[in-house]
Amino acid sequence: MTEKELICVNCPIGCTVTVKMEGDEIISVTGNTCPKGEAYARKECIRPERILTSTVKIEGGTHRVLPVITSEEIPLDVMFEAMEEVRKVSVKAPVSEGDVIISNLLGTGADVVASRSMAAAD
Ligand code: SF4
Repeated sequence: MTEKELICVNCPIGCTVTVKMEGDEIISVTGNTCPKGEAYARKECIRPERILTSTVKIEGGTHRVLPVITSEEIPLDVMFEAMEEVRKVSVKAPVSEGDVIISNLLGTGADVVASRSMAAAD
């Protein structure tokens, strides 16, 4: 049996949650004060997810790159492949904050969107 200690990041209280596992199977989750902590710990131990933030090339903009972010968390185990997809993209200015740059990134259901607006250069 293995034991993992995690800090729940769902609220500022930051409960320490202990997960006992037998191989890939979760045996128990303790230390969480509310159900969100258990859900977080289970996801974190089975298939953790993260928001991806990066930049893409932009042509004709006021800067050379445009900051982007995923619309929701994506599995951590596809993060490297996701970064490769983002690296291939180039957009043209102007771009508005929230514009979809890549739809349904790698079939995760998350879009890559512009995290700021960028006007065309004069
Ligand atoms: S378990 Fe609940 S109370 Fe504790 S940090 Fe997570 S969300 Fe907050």
